[in-house]
Amino acid sequence: SSWWSGVEMGPPDAILGVTEAYKRDSNPNKVNLGAGAYRDDQGKPYILPTVKLAEERISKRNMDHEYAPISGVGEFTKASINLALGDNNQFSSNGLNATVQTISGTGSLRIGGAFLEKWFPGNKDIYLPVPTWGNHIPLFKHSGLQVKTYRYYEPKTCGFDFQGALDDISKIPEQSIILLHACAHNPTGVDPRPEQWAELSKLIKDKKLFPFFDMAYQGFASGDIDRDAAAVRMFLKDGHRVALAQSYAKNMGLYGERCGAFSLICDSKEEADRVMSQLKIIIRPMYSNPPIHGARIAAEILTDAGLRAQWLTEVKGMADRVISMRTQLRDNLKKEGSTKDWSHITDQIGMFCFTGMTPEQVGKLTKEHSVYLTKDGRIAIVGITSKNVGYLAHAMHQVTK
Ligand code: PMP
Repeated sequence: SSWWSGVEMGPPDAILGVTEAYKRDSNPNKVNLGAGAYRDDQGKPYILPTVKLAEERISKRNMDHEYAPISGVGEFTKASINLALGDNNQFSSNGLNATVQTISGTGSLRIGGAFLEKWFPGNKDIYLPVPTWGNHIPLFKHSGLQVKTYRYYEPKTCGFDFQGALDDISKIPEQSIILLHACAHNPTGVDPRPEQWAELSKLIKDKKLFPFFDMAYQGFASGDIDRDAAAVRMFLKDGHRVALAQSYAKNMGLYGERCGAFSLICDSKEEADRVMSQLKIIIRPMYSNPPIHGARIAAEILTDAGLRAQWLTEVKGMADRVISMRTQLRDNLKKEGSTKDWSHITDQIGMFCFTGMTPEQVGKLTKEHSVYLTKDGRIAIVGITSKNVGYLAHAMHQVTK
């Protein structure tokens, strides 16, 4: 027999599998709301004009293709932590951050997971919200951490289960790790309000938990990068020392360039140096050093005042289109005659909407209307356009009435 006769066929990826099925459908009206990749109003992938400008500038410089350091492109990591914490923030100004460039947000979480598995002095348990981004669970298990959960989403209101979250977090043993979505929670689109964040911060501090922020959507939620980073900044102000995963997949449209960063905020520069040395020791045997192209683009945009200002308007443009599609979807459902309360479509934020549709309704939507989405009823708002929103609302009303 062959070496691999014992290899079992694995299931397709829950999210990427949706796109596969969509591609096989010949219905001209088919709609793909599975993947979280921004589309313009023509349904086309969007290359940010600032990304093009940055690429042109980089290309003119005739830069070489030498290896980056293990920790990545220096200008990029510096600009990245400042984007998260704000210009002139006291942490990076005083060298308290250990920041490495990573293989986008996924790689950042994975390096963070590996570091915590090796060095976190408390329980190697990480508490994830229910639900969470599907990949969080296997990713942290693969890092060697124990994955546990806390309540987050309330199906009855399609909103935040604040009380449930507080109750569950208050029962987490001290010195454990808690994962928080910094903004635009995936898959629910439900974020705590500022005053709820303040209470969460206090509770997490009282319980001596270690907060790990996953910030995959800075700027994409509200259209404002500072507003979207408010929770992370608030926690730091409250005296937390945090881990932070950043991704430029969404807010710069650099999906396939795999550009991200992982940071730990430390108590002293000396501590940050020690942490940095160990992050490099983790990265080296995994992939030696990260790819340079996306990091050069992001660094160019973040450090050039003109490009940066233009980029902020482009990010806002993407966020605004998403917000406007939410309103149009809700209005069209009403026009269809739906009497259901769809207010959560406009209350939720970011790329996704957790519609509250059941797996049966989702199945019907796909089978009878060629609308593709994940079984949990999550739709990627970024795939809706002014052209398909009417069709989508009609189909959603047909399966939910
Ligand atoms: N975290 C969350 C919550 C996400 O939704 C995503 C992207 N879907 C990521 C991290 C990582 O994405 P990437 O590796 O493409 O940056």
